[in-house]
Amino acid sequence: MARTLITGGLVITAAEETPADVLVEDGRVAALALPGSQRWSADRVFDASGKYVVPGGVDAHTHLEMPFGGTRASDTFTTGTRAAAWGGTTTIVDFAVQSRGSALRAGLDEWHAKADGNCAIDYAFHMIVSDVNEAVLREMPGLVGEGVTSFKLFMAYPGVFYSDDGQILRAMQQAAELGALTMVHAENGPAIDVLVEQALARGETDPRHHGEVRRALLEAEATHRAVQLARVAGAPLYVVHVSAREALAELAAARDLGLPVFGETCPQYLFLSTDNLAEPGFEGAKYVCSTPLRPRDHQDALWRGLRTDDLQVVSTDHCPFCFAGQKELGRGDFSKIPNGLPGIEHRMDLLHQAVVEGRISRRRWIELACAAPARMFGLHPRKGTIAPGSDADLVIYDPHAVQTLSAATHHMNVDYSAYEGRTVTGRVETVLSRGEVVLDRGDYLGRPGHGTFLPRSTCQYL
Ligand SMILES: [Zn+2]
Repeated sequence: MARTLITGGLVITAAEETPADVLVEDGRVAALALPGSQRWSADRVFDASGKYVVPGGVDAHTHLEMPFGGTRASDTFTTGTRAAAWGGTTTIVDFAVQSRGSALRAGLDEWHAKADGNCAIDYAFHMIVSDVNEAVLREMPGLVGEGVTSFKLFMAYPGVFYSDDGQILRAMQQAAELGALTMVHAENGPAIDVLVEQALARGETDPRHHGEVRRALLEAEATHRAVQLARVAGAPLYVVHVSAREALAELAAARDLGLPVFGETCPQYLFLSTDNLAEPGFEGAKYVCSTPLRPRDHQDALWRGLRTDDLQVVSTDHCPFCFAGQKELGRGDFSKIPNGLPGIEHRMDLLHQAVVEGRISRRRWIELACAAPARMFGLHPRKGTIAPGSDADLVIYDPHAVQTLSAATHHMNVDYSAYEGRTVTGRVETVLSRGEVVLDRGDYLGRPGHGTFLPRSTCQYL
């Protein structure tokens, strides 16, 4: 088997920053050593002097080829995982979807068929449960046995993914029994639907009204309710895409009580705001996602939550729709704009920019983007760190390179960038996935089918 050596870099994990040479053998990290201290022979050597060597990113929230609002997310497993690799992410956890009236099994099989043979990097699945009933509850143990150890429930989107409180409680009880993690989209969907109808009746049809009707208080209320339901069920809880300061406060309060409650936010909530939703013409549609972007002053609270560990994970919620033909479905009616933003390629760089700006430390960058999602979803230590025995999912990162994000240069299959024209410091130089070179200095060397399905163990924070 091939041996690869990465010399002279600063190896950064969630725990340590160590100048070290890294030896890769049989797709795994074999050893770390003081720079230059070992005379390892290797088939291939990368000089990482002046660069960082970090674990490949773990993006625990993606929606590739996801059907939504009569259309479908524009990145396939082929294009989405390739774009992820360009951005230094080597593992994704995507959401398989149960359709109403169908079994979980049918949804999971469908997602396996979409991904199998098409991924450039490794992948795993969460299961979206949109129809909690006795048959579905009986299916859950089988999925956990196959390594699908997290189930997502929606308090939003009545008539599509929505579950009522009784269904959520029942699913949480079953998940708790199985040691599985319940993920919740926490927004009060029925109340939001009333506000949507009222806004449209007043002629408020522009994209910015999407943000206004999805009130921060309705995210906070649902977050509070999800926490209490989880307490009653004796279940751990993971709240996805937290965007409102008031919702974060509910998580912080729960954690102060010592409850097993976790939270995730996304780069769009840290770097974008309602100012983007209010861009002139129909431009705001590019930024329509749920939970929605919030006024700029929520960002400071989210950054603080990331520093104080009231939020543990940054994922992308990558769910891209092209402006032309997809976002445009909602011209004249914001409620018909497909919900979602592209971002799978930029998470590592945007969080590194936060390091550059002094918002988080380098180790916290790696913890939020690699180690914590790997532990949260049962992939550690295979993923998310650099240690003997872990998969050689490695990124050589140039912390000084400057790049400008743009649809003209990104690799996601979408016709706009949510970060168009934004300059960031830091760039992925080389990416290894299980020891194979996927990307090297601007040359893409990956291939569909290299990525394999990862059965996961249960949450490692419990
Ligand atoms: Zn999502």
